[in-house]
Amino acid sequence: MSIQPATKTISTKAAARDGLLAGGAACAPRSPQPARDLPAFTPALAREMAPLYEKVRHVVTPMEWPHYAPLVKAINELKVKRNAVILAHNYMTPEIFHCVGDFRGDSLQLAKEAAKTEADVIVQAGVHFMAETSKILCPDKTVLIPDPKAGCSLAESITAEDVRMLREAYPGVPIVTYVNTSAAVKAECDICCTSANAVKVVESLGAPRVIMVPDEFLAKYVQTQTKVEIIAWKGHCEVHERFTAEELLAYREADPGTRIIAHPECPPEVIEVADFTGSTAGMINWVKSNRPRKVVLVTECSMSSNVAAEVPDVEFVRPCNLCPHMKRMVNLKI
Ligand code: SF4
Repeated sequence: MSIQPATKTISTKAAARDGLLAGGAACAPRSPQPARDLPAFTPALAREMAPLYEKVRHVVTPMEWPHYAPLVKAINELKVKRNAVILAHNYMTPEIFHCVGDFRGDSLQLAKEAAKTEADVIVQAGVHFMAETSKILCPDKTVLIPDPKAGCSLAESITAEDVRMLREAYPGVPIVTYVNTSAAVKAECDICCTSANAVKVVESLGAPRVIMVPDEFLAKYVQTQTKVEIIAWKGHCEVHERFTAEELLAYREADPGTRIIAHPECPPEVIEVADFTGSTAGMINWVKSNRPRKVVLVTECSMSSNVAAEVPDVEFVRPCNLCPHMKRMVNLKI
């Protein structure tokens, strides 16, 4: 199975060999080269693009928009020409998420949209394992990823061989994989879950003990929600593992009305001080329905901008942890 980049196919393993996936510093986004002539940002283009700018004006400045608008126009025209759809993950920057994304959401939502789409081409504005998931669900479609080096520290933390080793060490114990794994790892596991349905999936197996890979912190969170004994692999998300309880408590101390909403990939001590823990979709729904005066979304930084664009009445505190892999997605590459 291959996911096609713009020019050639590069596997995540090859990227890891090249030292491109293992650490944050090596994964800093590179400046893309312009691929085609873009329209100038004329008053006519500004008028044409005004409805799209309205969606992001709360988080994209009037100085930035003349740079994005011609790219957004070109991408949206190319989508029509190629009968393509763009699946935009919650961690995309706002001009991608709100202005070119046809479907927006977390891994689960995007996988469902991939399975349903009638389009010939799926462009995954996310990371490599997400494009693989789309290809698994849509084997007859062309799945493109704008930068095949967009990996994930969780997905890279485990191999298919590691899963076979776990089977030998724990005979008969079912293995649940989080969606953040390669297709090769998924093929070795019994069932796949997302952060939104992990507890349900673990309990659906009817087993007293379950192995969860690759995220140790998600496994620990699930353990607090179920009586099933969880054996955890020790993979971590390099974005979520950086948050600390101390920094979050400092925000709350500075303004006691600040609500703290955490993703289950965070360390247990962070989850302990949070007012709510949930998947990215769960976090967004919580903010939209509770409308706190001030909130910290303890997850990748761009998600705060994407939600802020829709709920301008809520103030977002942004401890800005960016995912270097997600940030490989930029308009020019799309
Ligand atoms: S935010 Fe974390 S889990 Fe998501 S792609 Fe980046 S490294 Fe992987």
